[in-house]
This record gives sequence, structure tokens and C-alpha cells, in this order.
Amino acid sequence: MPKLDKYKIEVTFLGTGTSQGVPVIACNCDVCESVDLKDKRLRSSILIKINGNNFVIDAGPDFRQQMLCEKISSLRSILLTHEHVDHIFGLDDIRSFNWIQNHPTDIYAEKRVQEAIKRIFNYVFAEYKYPGIPKMKLHSVSNKSFTIDGIRFIPIRCYHHKLPVYGYRVGDLTYITDTNYIPDEELEKIKGSKILIINALRKEKHISHFNLDEALDVVEKVKPEKTFLTHISHAFGLYSNLKEELPEDVYSAYDGLRLEF
Ligand SMILES: [Zn+2]
Ligand SMILES: [Zn+2]
Repeated sequence: MPKLDKYKIEVTFLGTGTSQGVPVIACNCDVCESVDLKDKRLRSSILIKINGNNFVIDAGPDFRQQMLCEKISSLRSILLTHEHVDHIFGLDDIRSFNWIQNHPTDIYAEKRVQEAIKRIFNYVFAEYKYPGIPKMKLHSVSNKSFTIDGIRFIPIRCYHHKLPVYGYRVGDLTYITDTNYIPDEELEKIKGSKILIINALRKEKHISHFNLDEALDVVEKVKPEKTFLTHISHAFGLYSNLKEELPEDVYSAYDGLRLEF
């Protein structure tokens, strides 16, 4: 168990949906047709506020809408878990922060993810740059803790089928998404977290995401005070039903949910 850093943390769920979001285009299932706002899920991302700094984990295709919804006016940095479309395709919209803050956006990601960013957003890294394009400053993440303005982040190595991805722990909070395997030594780093946010796609098994039972196995091993499930598919069922079905101290997250601890 790592030495515990103590920070006052405010977390806002910017999105809690799987790659297609909920509702899914052209789907007429009960969940996609639900009028409950808690069944509307943008692509998964969280905002973490510590000491007045805003950190965002992942910037998928809904990043613009998420920044507008939460009226975010400054961004300290973006931490990325992996390079899938639903986690990085909003990065072009950092432009407003570049202008307002007069600074490139600090983006933390492992080498492989950085290569994908350079390929997909090649214009950002071109020798002759088109005016007005986003400005990114890439920082390398490896499996060692690092600090941003003195705030310590601990990467947690997890696996998304065969793809290595990073979860992050900061103080009493751990955020893990797009994972279906966490090695034992990495589980040790999560222990002692008050709040665990973990992906649980649906009840049926899936090749690259924890299902509900697998996520609950992790909860059993780590024993956080509270757990919030995220990266949820329309196949998981209605929010109102899920609420009844989950064990004590395990909750389905929803977009806009805010936690302070
Ligand atoms: Zn995803
Ligand atoms: Zn993914």
C-alpha cells in the first residue's frame, strides 16, 4: 500500500458511458428510450479538482460538451488512460484553453499513446503549422508516480484485453477504466482508496471490459469505502433498476455526479 497523500478532492463525472455513449444511435431499447437523465451517458471522463487545479482524465468525442456543461474555464492538465477513440478524440477542442491560458495544454500519456496522438493529430506537430490549431505539450507516463504542481499521481497498470492501459490514483481516489485485468501488485496500489471508480460495462462477460461480477471481485479485494461504476453500456439496464441491484456502498455513477472528500 503506498504512503497516503491527503488532498481535498472534488470529482465530477463528465461522462459515464461506453464507447458509443447512451443512448446509442438508432437503438430503441428501454435504456436508450428512457427519459431519466441518469440514463444519458456521455463518453467516460472525470474532472478532478485539487487545490484549485482542474485535472481531466481522458478527452473523448464529448469533451467540448463536457467542458461547456461544467463551465470549465481553466485546465491544469489532461491525463490519458489509452488511445481509443472514445478517450482522445476531443483533444482538438483544447484550443480555447490554449488561448485563454496562453499556454499549450499539458497532456500526460505513455509513449504508445503519445505516438497515436502524433499520428491522429499530425497537424499539431507539423513543421509548418496552420494558424489556430491546438497546442499540446506531451509528458511521458511510465509505471512510476509523478507530480503536477506538487500533487502526486500514481499510475496503475491495467489491461484492456491485451492492451496495457493506465488507471490513476491521487490521494484517496482511484480511477480505472477500460480494463478487464489488474495484476496483484497493481491492486496493492489501489488499497486504502476511499473512492474507487471502476469500469463495469454490463452483466454479461466481455472480451476487454470488466462485467459487473468482475468489477465486484476487484471491490472485494481492494475494499474501498465507496465504489462508483462507470463506462456503462445500454445493455447494463436502467439506472433506476441498477440502483436496487448493486451491493452496499457500490453505486452506478451518472453524468454530472459530484463527490467531495
Ligand atoms: Zn472506452
Ligand atoms: Zn478502450
